[in-house]
Amino acid sequence: MPKSNELGSSSQLINELAASLITLDLQGYITGWNKGAAQLFGYSADDVIGQHILMLYAEESADDSADFNTVLVQGHAQMEVLRRKKNGDTFWANIHLTLVRNSENQAVRMIGYVTDITEQLAFEEKNRLYNHIFEQATDAIVITNLDFHCVGCNAAYQQMTEKNIEQTLGQLPSFLQALQHEPGIPLYEQLNLLGHWKGELWDQRASGQRYPIHLTISGVKNKRGELTHYFAVFSDLSEQKQAEAQIHRLAYFDQLTNLPNRIMLFALLEQALTEARRNNQHGALLCFNIARFKALNDSFGHRAADQVLIEVALRIRASLRDEDVVSRFGADEFYIGLFDISHRDDASLVAQRILHAISLPLMLGHEELLLNASIGISVYPDDGRDAEKLINQAAVALHRGKQAQQEMLFYSPEMNQRSMARLKLTSELHHALERHELQLFYQGQYDAQSAELVGAEALIRWQHPSRGFISPAEFIPFAEETGLIIPIGEWVIFEATRQLAQWDANHQFLPRLAINLSARQFKANLPEQLIHRLDSLQLQPNRIELELTESILMQSDEITLNLLRELKTAGFSLALDDFGTGYSNLSYLQRFTLDYLKIDQSFIRGLPDDKSSAGIVNAICGIARSLNLRLIAEGVETATQLAFLQQIECDQIQGYLLGHPLPATEFAQLLSARPSP
Ligand code: C2E
Ligand code: CA
Ligand code: CA
Repeated sequence: MPKSNELGSSSQLINELAASLITLDLQGYITGWNKGAAQLFGYSADDVIGQHILMLYAEESADDSADFNTVLVQGHAQMEVLRRKKNGDTFWANIHLTLVRNSENQAVRMIGYVTDITEQLAFEEKNRLYNHIFEQATDAIVITNLDFHCVGCNAAYQQMTEKNIEQTLGQLPSFLQALQHEPGIPLYEQLNLLGHWKGELWDQRASGQRYPIHLTISGVKNKRGELTHYFAVFSDLSEQKQAEAQIHRLAYFDQLTNLPNRIMLFALLEQALTEARRNNQHGALLCFNIARFKALNDSFGHRAADQVLIEVALRIRASLRDEDVVSRFGADEFYIGLFDISHRDDASLVAQRILHAISLPLMLGHEELLLNASIGISVYPDDGRDAEKLINQAAVALHRGKQAQQEMLFYSPEMNQRSMARLKLTSELHHALERHELQLFYQGQYDAQSAELVGAEALIRWQHPSRGFISPAEFIPFAEETGLIIPIGEWVIFEATRQLAQWDANHQFLPRLAINLSARQFKANLPEQLIHRLDSLQLQPNRIELELTESILMQSDEITLNLLRELKTAGFSLALDDFGTGYSNLSYLQRFTLDYLKIDQSFIRGLPDDKSSAGIVNAICGIARSLNLRLIAEGVETATQLAFLQQIECDQIQGYLLGHPLPATEFAQLLSARPSP
């Protein structure tokens, strides 16, 4: 017999409703079941009518009597409960129960309206979860409107930026300001193009402290695909950067001395070598060891030995220029890279400086320690062209040096010979002055047309006790490098002026005497020194011509300019020596008020047949004339050279043709032979 279904028969409309409706009698037995209920639970009306509502409960023990009572008392109740379908699936149901009364106001039944809220609950759950993540995230998150003004942010954002929510809402986040100055595609364009921007940059906290962040900015679109917001997520990289720096230090630097380690030295050397190759420079690598370091370690202990190493590292560093590299490989093994030296032999000067610094007494507690060290030197590119080779050769040189009980040794024998000879020469040149081995020769300068003697150039000579005469071309350059040129130059000024005054006294009148000056002599006290000297001899400054090199004029700084002006004002003649061999930057000829240009001998040599020499000499002559400078030709050896120079109206001539450089006594005879002025 078909069961009677209140909802089935009473109202077709209700039965057809998609919503699930159930009627119950006051004891909880199902009396009505529409199609919606059938669809939701999977049971047909026949399955359930007459059954107790308990059959739909998900848990056997569930007790809804309280809800029923509420309905009976209040007339309605609402509950969120777990229910079970025919197929066994459970779901969250929202049930509205309403008490139905008859016309005598007697409760007759209950109507239940059931909806599946599983999805709705899941959505709420998700929202709750998302909120939790947003708030609890360690990354800073900020949401902005399309103008990039903040509409929301999480706690981490407030913590990192040190701004509270009031200081944040409605504001432009500070990293966006930094981002506007980033090179590359502008932020807006990239966001439009790719939908996001990602990168590392610096943000600033409210306190002003800057900190590195890793930032991602993305656009948020609504269902219709329209951009509505941006959100930015970033993390504070300060700690990570510090950790990276620490790792870098551990990996590339020696912990004890803080010097670059082996790996770092290789990298630095390769870099320096690439540069040296490109610029055609040379360089040197020094391998350094402390003598008997192991014994020191054994007798004083590790701690003390570490102190010694730290001090040694400091002393080595202090002996070098900033661009030189020092590295510690371990124990007492240090490597020193010199890549900006003008002469290969200069490595030996640096090595000597280091050895000297190491030899100074060192205090270890209350004990005074005297250290010795050895240095092996390899030279780039002669001994090797790559870092590994140079390091090996320097170590080999060190080893050989120790065996031979030499403090310093080059890898290549020729370099050793050269550097030893140089060191010897340097120390001998030190003594040359006091031993009166230096002497001045005088070479006449003549009027090109009349061949009349108009002046002379003082040229230095070194009479070496065992090697005989040594050319200034050989010793002046390293007197300049070692600084010996200062006392030597002072002596030249002293001696040349003494001689000029002496000749005056002897009625052997020389109109003008030229003195060569090197760049290192060109210092602030030069004019005063010269003027004072001439005063004491009662000589006029116009009797002295100062021969300057292009390298002096190249300095062209304020000090040089002032010096030149001072010398000029005092009345000295200024000549530019070796014109055409150096940088030949003509601009300084205009800037400085010079009197003479000396054409270098190398251009005179080919005259008159060599077309290019003739052309150059002609051109220099033109320049001199247009700048109102007088021209002196050097190294004139033949009559044809003289004839050419006369023809182009060169002013003065110096060279073997008219006179060799002569010792003072011999030159004096030339002066005596002249008619007195
Ligand atoms: P410099 O200033 O260009 O001097 C001219 C050089 O050419 C001198 O060489 C001179 O002896 C040489 N000479 C002169 N006439 C002839 C010639 O007809 N043929 C040839 N082949 N050579 C000729 P010296 O005396 O050996 O000096 C060489 C360089 O040493 C000088 O070149 C100068 O740069 C430097 N020097 C010499 N004396 C001094 C000095 O007192 N102070 C400084 N700072 N440098 C000096
Ligand atoms: Ca000269
Ligand atoms: Ca010259």
